[in-house]
Amino acid sequence: MECHINLSQEGSEVSPLRIDVIQTLHYSTGVPVTSTLMLLPMQSIEKEVCDELVHSLLEMGASSDVHSKLRQRVIRDCKAYLSSSGDPIDWQALKALKFPKNYNDAYEHVLRNDDVPDTVTTYKDKLKLDGYEPFYRNFDRRTGVFNGYKLKAEFKAVSPSQLDPFNRFTFDRTSKEETLFDDWFLADDDSRDGIMYEAVLACHALQAESCHNCKVKNVLRWNGGSGSSWQDLLCTMCEATYEIKTKATMEKVETALRYNNIKGGSFSAWCEMKNSKHRSQKTYLVLLTREPTFNRQNKQVRPVTIAEIEKVLPRVHAGSFNTERTCVSLKSRVSLNMNTKTKWFDLPVKGETIYMKEIAEKVYKDRFSEETFTRMWDLKSEVIAKLRKRKQKRKNQVMMVLMSSRESSRE
Ligand SMILES: [Zn+2]
Repeated sequence: MECHINLSQEGSEVSPLRIDVIQTLHYSTGVPVTSTLMLLPMQSIEKEVCDELVHSLLEMGASSDVHSKLRQRVIRDCKAYLSSSGDPIDWQALKALKFPKNYNDAYEHVLRNDDVPDTVTTYKDKLKLDGYEPFYRNFDRRTGVFNGYKLKAEFKAVSPSQLDPFNRFTFDRTSKEETLFDDWFLADDDSRDGIMYEAVLACHALQAESCHNCKVKNVLRWNGGSGSSWQDLLCTMCEATYEIKTKATMEKVETALRYNNIKGGSFSAWCEMKNSKHRSQKTYLVLLTREPTFNRQNKQVRPVTIAEIEKVLPRVHAGSFNTERTCVSLKSRVSLNMNTKTKWFDLPVKGETIYMKEIAEKVYKDRFSEETFTRMWDLKSEVIAKLRKRKQKRKNQVMMVLMSSRESSRE
């Protein structure tokens, strides 16, 4: 790949370890750079990205000579992503977009905009370990020096050949109707409730909160749905982007922040977004806690933490080992600028019930048909039975109640 970069004196003095991969991506796109910005050599960015990829491949167990071809492919494709840019955003259209004013309608709106390609390739993990990396990087506690890779406890009983990602993962083509059925009705709480909370957060923020960066009200827009990763919310004034992530508890939010190494979505989508923005435009990660807590005013809320994204590096995942793809699929690791970490707002817990199952069923039947829904339900009856067993304690119809027990007892 050719990169036309002007190197400045300051740039060559910057330690490669401190390079902000993301902020420097512009240099490959030809966006004019003002003299106040520090120029960094593209080679250093590539080096950091490639180093990270090699680590990531080794953590996945792709360490032998057999994997060298894959290693080359992964690095080649990743370098290409570094300079790819996405379609520009139609700001006028975005400004005119309406978003529902109550949580139920917001959830329905988000589901109606959720889409996937006609056929989706899904992976199966023969080890039934959710595609997790078997190894982790070990560092000397005293010196912080890298000490090689260690095998995680849950993988200890597995043979080396079973660990080989080419043996471990198999790929299937899944239809759109099956993929969305799985996502909306069968996914674990983390991902299914994630869609709902994104809707709830957007519904509240668009009406009540100002942009975290420019402090202007009524300028936030929901931009989620398919094909818009990394920018669930956008500011139509300063063009700041917000990626929403939900975590089960505040404790989990704190752990993510302590390690400052958060698993993120598509790396190529990140590059495309970053390369089509000006350097001054802010990119934020928003962390929402699903479990309510009481704030200082003794009101039940879900705290929303925010920080600027400092760096995004690529990582391989199960899908990266699907050799039928023309380009290697890569996910990401996000680190935040901890100096910018703060509470954005408290999402109030209102006495509103969200009828997730009913809404999803309605949207699904509208999208496909009554028959498709019934067919899927029969096809997945075993999985559904298992899920039901696990959730016996939960109420049958209402999947998620956003009601404070205090408020309800007062009424
Ligand atoms: Zn703004």
